[in-house]
Amino acid sequence: MTQDRPAIPAAMRREVLEEAGYACAVPSCRSTPVEIAHIEPWSKVQAHTFDNLIALCPNHHTRFDVERRIPAASVHRWKANLALLNGRYSDLERRLLEEAVDAPENVAWPVHSSLSLLLKHLLEDGIISRVGLNQPNISFNGRKQEIFVAITPKGREFLRRWQNAEPLYE
Ligand SMILES: [Zn+2]
Repeated sequence: MTQDRPAIPAAMRREVLEEAGYACAVPSCRSTPVEIAHIEPWSKVQAHTFDNLIALCPNHHTRFDVERRIPAASVHRWKANLALLNGRYSDLERRLLEEAVDAPENVAWPVHSSLSLLLKHLLEDGIISRVGLNQPNISFNGRKQEIFVAITPKGREFLRRWQNAEPLYE
C-alpha cells in the first residue's frame, strides 16, 4: 500500500458492506469478517468507486488479489448478482438461498405461514415451492401455522449459476 492511496470514504465502505450483507460476497462462503477488495486493482484504477469494490473474507481476498486464483470476471459477476438479489428478494429470501447453497437437495424448510409473504418472489419465480404433508391450514388456535418450502429444480439451477458466477437470469 502506497502513501498516496487515500482511504475508502466511510459512506462508500458502508454501502459495499451493506450490499454484501456484511458477509463475504462469494456465494458459497458468506463468512465474516470481511475486507473491502478492489475488483480491478488499485494500481490500475487509482480510484475508489462503488462499482469496483466488493466485500470479501480475508481468505477470498488473498485468493483473488494475491494468488490470482479467482478471475476478475467472476468477481464482477458476483457483484452484479448481489445487486440483482438485493433488488428482487427480501432478507428472508436471501438467507434461504444462502442456506440452500450448502444444503442437501431433499431439505425442506419450515416457515411460519405469516412469513410466506416475505418469500413471495422466490415462490413466484419458481425457485422454491411449498411442499409436504403439512399444507397451509388457516387456523387461529396456534396450530398448523407452519408451511414447508423446498428448492425446485429451477431453483437448483439458479443456485448453480449464482455459485459459478454466471448471470442469474437468462
Ligand atoms: Zn469468502
